[in-house]
Amino acid sequence: MTILNGKEIANKIKDEIAAEVGEIKSRGEKVPHLAAVLVGNDGASLTYVGSKVRSCNRIGFESTLKHLPEDTSEEELLDLVSELNNDPEIDGYIVQLPLPKHIDEQKVLLAVDPDKDVDGFHPANFGKMALDMESFIPATPFGIMELLRRYNVEVEGKHAVVIGRSHIVGRPISILLSQKGKFANATVTLTHSRTKDIKALTLQADIIVSALGVPGFLTGDMVRDGAVIIDVGITRVPDESKERGYYITGDVDFESVSKKASYITPVPGGVGPMTIAMLLQNTLLARKRRTQNNR
Ligand code: NAP
Repeated sequence: MTILNGKEIANKIKDEIAAEVGEIKSRGEKVPHLAAVLVGNDGASLTYVGSKVRSCNRIGFESTLKHLPEDTSEEELLDLVSELNNDPEIDGYIVQLPLPKHIDEQKVLLAVDPDKDVDGFHPANFGKMALDMESFIPATPFGIMELLRRYNVEVEGKHAVVIGRSHIVGRPISILLSQKGKFANATVTLTHSRTKDIKALTLQADIIVSALGVPGFLTGDMVRDGAVIIDVGITRVPDESKERGYYITGDVDFESVSKKASYITPVPGGVGPMTIAMLLQNTLLARKRRTQNNR
């Protein structure tokens, strides 16, 4: 069994990006600039945005954090989005989800300039991805594909079962795995909360991508020998014995599943760090496109 070490690969990708930033600087060109918009004080969102900004600093990107109060109105947020769309200094930006309930998430995501949408959530980018056109690919599924590629895990012709159909993980990873291409060409089954007998499907899977957010959902008896296991889940479980008051766990019962898997991602240290690395990769791409267009 091989651990798919997302932390290590993500660090490698960050080093590669940092080297490119060094070259950009030496040519006297503008370095990539990522902005992050955070509304409110959700603990997990604060952690994610914090590590995105820290990663930018580490690799030589410029970064801007726009932290707005919880009671920010939809109109105020849309004004900020418009400001970021028109700011020539900003190459790409993300609006950290979830947004407070009084704000229409879809309305905000639709307002993001697709050329700066480094999260790949705008329908223009999502549609291009589904049509095999060049686009910004959402960072988490992009990270999963990159992890499989870098470990040379064979995907072609395999049966992949995806658990969860969210717009940011399950749906896009099912599209990417089934695309034509050397590190894709899988046959995909996309499952969700209304799927009957998920176990019967996972037992047929060569690759399982679990993205539902239910700790310990996937157990050893649901997996066949040699399966590749990608655990996307991140759940904070309250635990007073920990300094932070919680620990992080995935969807996979690592103990029983790792005994059967050929490859498996740990949580933490698997898909999570890859997500950040691919966000940075998308921001570099955004900068390169803008340089090509003299912007
Ligand atoms: P989400 O929007 O809540 O979607 C969850 C999906 O799982 C839904 O499609 C839901 O089905 C399905 N589901 C829920 N319970 C199920 C069950 N018992 N059996 C089968 N399917 C079930 O979640 P998400 O945003 O995709 O996130 C999923 C997990 O990944 C969370 O733990 C999240 O924190 C984590 N995550 C990690 C990263 C990372 O970088 N590692 C990035 C994003 C998210 P329905 O559609 O029928 O409701």
